[in-house]
Amino acid sequence: KVRVRFAPSPTGPLHIGGVRTALFNYLFAKKHGGDFVLRIEDTDQNRFVEGAEQYIVDALEWCGIPFDEGIGKDGGFGPYRQSERKHLYRKYADELIEKGHAYYAFDTAEALDAHRKEHEAKGKTFIYNWHNRLKLTNSLSLSAEEVQAKLDAGEPYVIRFKSPQGETLHLQDIVRGDVEIDTNILDDKILFKSDGMPTYHLANIVDDHLMEITHVIRGEEWLPSLALHNLLYRSFGWEAPQFAHLPLILKPTGKGKLSKRDGAKFGFPVFPMEWHDDKEDQLYLGFKEEGYFDDALINFLAFLGWNPGTEQEIFSLEELIEAFELERINKAGARFDIDKMQWFNQQYMHHKSNEYLAKSFQALRPELNGIDIQYIEMVVGLVKERVSFVKELWDESHFFFVAPTEFDEKAQKKALKEGTDDILRKLIDIINSTEEYTVESLQTNIKGWITDNEIGFGKVMQPLRFALAGALSGPDLFTIMFMIGKQETIKRIEKVLG
Ligand code: GLU
Repeated sequence: KVRVRFAPSPTGPLHIGGVRTALFNYLFAKKHGGDFVLRIEDTDQNRFVEGAEQYIVDALEWCGIPFDEGIGKDGGFGPYRQSERKHLYRKYADELIEKGHAYYAFDTAEALDAHRKEHEAKGKTFIYNWHNRLKLTNSLSLSAEEVQAKLDAGEPYVIRFKSPQGETLHLQDIVRGDVEIDTNILDDKILFKSDGMPTYHLANIVDDHLMEITHVIRGEEWLPSLALHNLLYRSFGWEAPQFAHLPLILKPTGKGKLSKRDGAKFGFPVFPMEWHDDKEDQLYLGFKEEGYFDDALINFLAFLGWNPGTEQEIFSLEELIEAFELERINKAGARFDIDKMQWFNQQYMHHKSNEYLAKSFQALRPELNGIDIQYIEMVVGLVKERVSFVKELWDESHFFFVAPTEFDEKAQKKALKEGTDDILRKLIDIINSTEEYTVESLQTNIKGWITDNEIGFGKVMQPLRFALAGALSGPDLFTIMFMIGKQETIKRIEKVLG
């Protein structure tokens, strides 16, 4: 059975790249009838941010890609917070020591620093691995007695992985194919820290194994860890999952990697979250608060690094699940094109039901309290093609609900000229004498009068529109007249008469 996981570290608001990773995992799981697991990787206590975990859960929920299994949803593989699995990891580190794949290292931070400086002075970089590990202070360079003495004395130590020497690894990645790595360049990564916590690498591999993860789908920034992770599986004698590394997400300019800091500008995470770091206190606005639809966001994110190989761009979640294939993920970075994101929202805006939109619109504008929802639905149907967001509906439709109060001076000059008063007065007569107050009769009567008198369409319609809507463009005028009603129509025209 396919089992995938999204394994964020709760170190801040969920980055949009994280949502994309979660989405690809979700799509793959659903396509194969598998499980989508949420695991919280919180072994790094220093970077823990209060509230970040709830944020992740809420964000996935809002996006409509909830996890099947994870914190609060036990699927028999819990706990799903690494901090609650602390007791588990040590024995795996010990197992590797026994098998000769890991060792104790007692080097102090000062000693390592000195080595680093020494190397730098010679123009080299210091790597803790096969070529110098015997010159350092660890259980490979010391005698068994010396090691025991240090352990007995309670000297702080870490456990390092013993990277093999002189091997060429051929690693398989579903996106990148064969990845070749010379093990001589790998360093002996720390697996277990002096604070009694595992590092990301150890905890990640142990958990993926224990949770029976079949596919690891994650960001490209983890590609450099692929060799170590494969070696860890090999050292334990476990079957490794398949890997797929998703391409980087690039800044809207296409230059450079999209960073959390760009988030402030582009409405990154899904909800607002106060985010404090050493450089700034920042309140990020979320996509949700910007007015993006969950399904439009998901549709957009699906195309960040993946495509269906056809011209189709608008996909429901079900269609994405159906079409999704890891093999169709690109290697090249995907540009985060905010205009495209807006385009998606616009498309969704046009296709959403008036019923749905009217409800969101009413919730957004206090002016719409108590107004008949069916009336709002009709209005929304008339103007939704003109906007990309629910929040933009008001600007296009306020005159359906309230008489214009502010008139733009420039528009006024354009609309009300010499002679328009006479025209408007005549219009009032026509409207008054229109017995059956419908869009058709209004249209027939007014248009008929215009043609009969050869007045010119604009000369009549511009001032009329201005009087009714306070603007020079908008939806069909006869429909506006019908919607606001006879009395209100006449009242508004009278108001602009000089
Ligand atoms: N905790 C890692 C992160 O924050 C997980 C990486 C992985 O999926 O292996 O992205």
